[in-house]
Amino acid sequence: MLHIGCHLSTTGGFLKMGETALSIGADTFAFFTRNPRGMKAKPVDPDDAAALRALLQERGFAALVAHAPYTMNACAAKPELRELAHTMMADDLKRMEYLPGNFYNFHPGSHVKQGAEQGISYIAELLNDVLTPEQHTTVLLETMAGKGTEVGRSFEEIRAIIDAVSLKDKLGVCLDTCHVWDAGYDIAGDLDGVLDTFDRVIGLDHLRAVHLNDSMNPCGAHKDRHAKIGEGCIGFAALQRVTCHPALCGLPFILETPNDLDGYADEIRRLRGK
Ligand code: FE
Ligand code: FE
Ligand code: ZN
Repeated sequence: MLHIGCHLSTTGGFLKMGETALSIGADTFAFFTRNPRGMKAKPVDPDDAAALRALLQERGFAALVAHAPYTMNACAAKPELRELAHTMMADDLKRMEYLPGNFYNFHPGSHVKQGAEQGISYIAELLNDVLTPEQHTTVLLETMAGKGTEVGRSFEEIRAIIDAVSLKDKLGVCLDTCHVWDAGYDIAGDLDGVLDTFDRVIGLDHLRAVHLNDSMNPCGAHKDRHAKIGEGCIGFAALQRVTCHPALCGLPFILETPNDLDGYADEIRRLRGK
């Protein structure tokens, strides 16, 4: 069965997100661990978290894919910004322990002209500081479109980060279909070839989740503008093939398309082939 959901607002709390997910036919979802464009985090309500845990189990949800704030830059040039990334991720992982067994996805960062190699080493340094053998969350590196000085624009860059991290069993990859397409991987014309490359460079065993988005721009554009499924350059058929591919079909798929809840419900229904 296809495990699919979308990004949901945390406004009503944890249980509310679970109920909203069910109401749109989802069996997984994503949410921001704190203000995506700031750093503020609401304190976790343990009872609300327990209520969501019970619902997830009772209704057989797949793993959730929480998303770190966009403001977190593990490879910023300013030491105080790298320190802030450190503080935010460590705190987010503590909060994620209220929902054990799920994923925490983050953008590796932007090296802001320090070079990818320096960026990669800062990102690995942060992960080596923050990951602990005791944590019940797998941290995911998101594949990026290569906008500006983003790190993670190629499978090789993702691999280089993984290589430099010691606790590899706490680390995985989230493949964003819009981002890899914009980075120049032709998942519409040659999905098998792209996944073979992923397997050769990173290893498909590291792939733990997929962000399912169409792209407003052609392959290789390095733009990162998400489109609704079937309304962009990748297209519905190609994205449905992604969800059915034997190497991917068991993973949680998260829609981050420009939609309201009705739009998400419709995308989920169509991708489920109903
Ligand atoms: Fe993202
Ligand atoms: Fe994404
Ligand atoms: Zn994006």
